[in-house]
Amino acid sequence: MTLSRDQIVSALTQILGAESVVGEPGQMTGYISEPRKRFHKEAQAVALPRTVAELQAVMEWAHEVGVHVVPQAGNTGLVGGQVPLFGDEVIVSISRLKGVRSVDAAAGHMTLDAGTTLQEAHEIAEDAGMMFPLYIASQGSARIGGVLGSNAGGVQVLSYGNARELCLGVEAVLADGSIYKGLNALKKDNMGYDIKNLLIGSEGTLGIITAATLKLFPKPDFYETALLNVASPEAALELFTQLRARAGSTLTAFELMPRIGIDLQLKHGMAAQDPSAADSDWYVLAEISVPKGMGGGALEAALEDAMGAGIVTNGVIAGSLAQRETFWTLREQMSEVQSREGASIKHDVSVPVAAVPQLITLGIAAAEAVQPGIRAVAFGHLGDGNIHFNFSQPEGADGKAFMEGAEAVHEAVYAVVLELGGSVSAEHGIGQLKTKLLKQVKDPVALSMMKSIKSALDPKGILNPGKVLG
Ligand SMILES: Cc1cc2nc3c(=O)[nH]c(=O)nc-3n(C[C@H](O)[C@H](O)[C@H](O)COP(=O)(O)OP(=O)(O)OC[C@H]3O[C@@H](n4cnc5c(N)ncnc54)[C@H](O)[C@@H]3O)c2cc1C
Repeated sequence: MTLSRDQIVSALTQILGAESVVGEPGQMTGYISEPRKRFHKEAQAVALPRTVAELQAVMEWAHEVGVHVVPQAGNTGLVGGQVPLFGDEVIVSISRLKGVRSVDAAAGHMTLDAGTTLQEAHEIAEDAGMMFPLYIASQGSARIGGVLGSNAGGVQVLSYGNARELCLGVEAVLADGSIYKGLNALKKDNMGYDIKNLLIGSEGTLGIITAATLKLFPKPDFYETALLNVASPEAALELFTQLRARAGSTLTAFELMPRIGIDLQLKHGMAAQDPSAADSDWYVLAEISVPKGMGGGALEAALEDAMGAGIVTNGVIAGSLAQRETFWTLREQMSEVQSREGASIKHDVSVPVAAVPQLITLGIAAAEAVQPGIRAVAFGHLGDGNIHFNFSQPEGADGKAFMEGAEAVHEAVYAVVLELGGSVSAEHGIGQLKTKLLKQVKDPVALSMMKSIKSALDPKGILNPGKVLG
């Protein structure tokens, strides 16, 4: 049965009340436009349930009448999973499902409604004297449901893991409106298949997460943070190995940055002055989170050795929280500055950590071969093997013409990634951006298992049609 927009809005209004339904296309802009402005399809309506029961009622109705639903949380996703693909969908926003169900600092977990923003989750943890260690630049808007739906990573995966590893249990409404009650706080639970981990990272195609039990950690006493000059990605890898051996899991971040990223920030006024010690082709932002009762100095001692061995050529250890902040801002702005410099081609890829230098050398050469003059701005989570392998247009080039060659650059870079045993989506997911690519590169048996799971949990294809599996 195909319903008109009026019929859809009227049915949703009956279920939720007029104040929880957006039916006017002109009022949907904030829900249908996404950060990269790549996807531009309308929605039939936006539903904003306030309770899990209301969400269940919406899904029961959608299932019965065959209306497609796009789950949306903070709308910060970078692969278009949270916005419509066909234009016949209803966006179901979980933004009003906000709140704290419980916090148990002693046991080390909290249970939050899925519409709580990541920033609010940090504050709730902090109020309890603890920490929820998932940090991403979009945390002011991203919500727990979306963070889990996309299995977000961020800058401390190295030590604490990604969203999946930080979650003990979830509650979710399924395509037919039934509810999966998996909100437990068990570290060990081998009672059959791992449904929680299936829902996490399913990008809204298998169920809508309504609440989650998340792990809490003791707050570090203080941070030791340094911005270090290294000659090459090979030297950065060597430094990583040394620091990791000395600091273990207290090494909570190890980020690689290229000189061009700093130059561009200076050029576009995003950094007032150069915070590095001297010019260098590459930099590492390394951070040790020192637990209470354990003295500091580990970073300095390790760096003395690394400088002695010529692995680090120069560097600055942050002398204040403000200086630490400056280093991190530099890192966080690496992606944004590229849009100020013109057109850019981006890849969120991972390889085994030891293969990162090869990825960078071979990937840049492959991209230059298909687009001479292309400028690599490769940065990111070296310690996780996850590089945001981005390229800016040649200086002064025509951005449109540059983007016409994007497909050739993608192919060149992905070929290197796959050759090195890597992944073409390290942390942002598949959404609608990479469905074709997934079909090309994913193991056929894994793909077939994914399809079987989708059709078992959502036989009518109600949830997020066309996403992930295409
Ligand atoms: C400036 C910026 C920086 C970023 N940095 C990082 C980073 O460092 N690491 C990283 O991993 N990502 C990063 N991202 C991507 C994005 O912020 C994350 O993927 C985030 O986790 C998405 O959360 P959200 O609430 O905005 O979800 P949305 O964008 O609303 O949704 C994301 C996906 O999850 C699905 N979904 C939404 N709600 C639910 C739910 N309740 N249950 C199940 N599925 C659901 C959607 O359908 C969609 O497929 C960044 C984005 C921006 C704009």
